[in-house]
Amino acid sequence: MAARTLARLECWPMAHLEQRYPNLHVSSHPLVAHKLTLLRDKGTAPKQFRELVRELSWLIGYEAMADLTTRPMGVETPLEVMEGAELEPRVGLVPVLRAGLGMVDAMLELMPTSQVWHIGLYRDERTLKPVEYYNKLPDAATVQVCLILDPMLATGGSSAATVDILKAWGAARIKQVSLIAAPEGIATLSEAHPDVDIHVCAVDRALNDRGYIEPGLGDAGDRQFGTFAGPASEPGHPSDETAEIVRRLQRTLAVD
Ligand code: URA
Repeated sequence: MAARTLARLECWPMAHLEQRYPNLHVSSHPLVAHKLTLLRDKGTAPKQFRELVRELSWLIGYEAMADLTTRPMGVETPLEVMEGAELEPRVGLVPVLRAGLGMVDAMLELMPTSQVWHIGLYRDERTLKPVEYYNKLPDAATVQVCLILDPMLATGGSSAATVDILKAWGAARIKQVSLIAAPEGIATLSEAHPDVDIHVCAVDRALNDRGYIEPGLGDAGDRQFGTFAGPASEPGHPSDETAEIVRRLQRTLAVD
C-alpha cells in the first residue's frame, strides 16, 4: 500500500490518554492486533467479519474479566477433593443495539450463566445524542457487574447514557468492552463516569465530522449484518450541528 494512503494513527499520544484516563485499558496482545487488522479491511465480507468480531470479543472479554472476584468451591477430581474457585459476581451483558449483538455469543461462551439485558438507544444522526426506545430492566438490579458491549466507542454518548441507566438500576460495577475506541468517546465516557473501566483492542485517531471513527472499520452494524447498500445508504453530509458536536468533543481533549 502506498505510504500516502496509510492513515496516521497517533493523534492523541496513547501515553497521554492512558495517563489522563487510568480507567482505559488497551490490549497489547499480538493476536488482537492481527485479527483487528483483518476486521478493518474493507474487503472482509460479513461472514468473516462476524467471526472476527466473535474472536476479538472473546479475547478482549478475557482481558476485561481478569479482575473479577472468585470464591472457593470444592471440586472432586478423579484423585481427590480439592478447593477450586467459582466466579463470585453475577454478570450482566448489555449489548448496544445493534452492533453489540455480535459480541454477545462470545461473552456467553466465556460466562454461560451471564444474563443478557437489552437497552435500546439510537443515535440521532443529526445531533449524535442517544435517544432511549427500549428498556425492560426489572425494578432492582439482578447482577453485580455489567459489561456494556459495543464494537465502536465513538462519541461515547450512548455508553454514558447506558451507564446512567445501569447505575440508576443498581449495578455495582460497570465495564465498557469495545473493539475500537475514538479518543473523543473515551473522554466523554470517562469524564461522565470515571469509575467505569474501558477495555478496548485499539484506540484510533479521531472522529470525523459525521461521527465515524477514523481509520476505524466503517459501520460495524452494516458490516456484520450485510446491510450496507452502497453510498446511498450512508448518512448524508454532516449537518452543522453534528460537526459542531464532534468539534466540541475534540476540544474537551485538548492537551492542558
Ligand atoms: N459506529 C460505527 O459502526 N462505526 C463508527 O465508526 C462509529 C460508530
